[in-house]
Amino acid sequence: MSINLIAKPIIDQELENLKHRCNKLKERRITPNLQVLLVGNNKASKIYTNRKKKFCESFGAKCDIHHLDENISVDDFIKELNKISSAQDVHGTFVQLPLPGQLANLEIEKLIPADKDVDGFHPFNLFALLSDDKKSDYFRPCTPYGVMNLLKYYNIPVSEKHAVIIGRSMIVGKPMQMLLTNANATVTLCHSKTKNLSELTQKADIIISAIGKPKFLNETFIHPAQKNNTVIIDVGINTDKDGNLCGDVDFDKVSPLVYAITPVPGGVGPLTILTLSQNLLQAAEKII
Ligand code: NDP
Repeated sequence: MSINLIAKPIIDQELENLKHRCNKLKERRITPNLQVLLVGNNKASKIYTNRKKKFCESFGAKCDIHHLDENISVDDFIKELNKISSAQDVHGTFVQLPLPGQLANLEIEKLIPADKDVDGFHPFNLFALLSDDKKSDYFRPCTPYGVMNLLKYYNIPVSEKHAVIIGRSMIVGKPMQMLLTNANATVTLCHSKTKNLSELTQKADIIISAIGKPKFLNETFIHPAQKNNTVIIDVGINTDKDGNLCGDVDFDKVSPLVYAITPVPGGVGPLTILTLSQNLLQAAEKII
């Protein structure tokens, strides 16, 4: 039986910590304040932003969602983003992706000031990650850092292990590669042009999938001799052919073959929101 790497105990434990830090800030009349920009009517985006708001409010932070029109012009969007992120009482600004076509080429990560970039994608924050800057308290990218938190909580060693990441996006795969490398793992980063993917995953101690393909990763990606040794982290959030939420991994087929695996839902997803909240408090604490 594999270990089910669920987020709940980590969230429960960390929520107390977040409440405590938030109360300390409030004693100094500072309420951590997150402002979220949501453009258009993407159903999943509405669900994600509402979850973020609910979670922030659960530990005492303020979170407003600015719902902008699907057809907003580039100029109006930038004006709105600048107005919101430059307000003095705002500690973190976050733009929910994906954005509609006319905004798709905007470099959002450069439009939010580094000290309010609780998503962790401003070039300053990315460079600190790249250079493994231990002195600066930069913001970590939310999903990959959530994965690191999960591995740490479940005592899964990373140092000297071989991690195979599938997916090279800027929000998951690439920063995940950096965090794991900084933690002394040897990392193979795969993508849609990678040849013989299953040969690589079969050699992995840790497989992290972030591709967005329902139940893509099945038993053929695990080497029979590796049985009960591999750790699977499923970042994907998809719907299967029956309309049910599922990950990139065929959980029922893979789970009996591995040491530990994250479920979808209930695995990586909540930890993304947790990192966002930790970054928000870090941003608010910086101004004391
Ligand atoms: P992107 O679409 O930006 O990137 C997908 C990556 O997967 C690309 O690098 C692509 O390769 C690669 N890929 C696609 N098909 C294959 C394949 N058959 N074999 C190998 N590689 C492949 O996705 P995101 O990184 O934004 O998201 C990935 C998944 O993670 C989605 O399901 C998303 O919903 C989920 N997600 C979950 C989060 C959470 O909190 N749990 C947070 C963020 C995302 P190439 O570059 O060559 O095109």
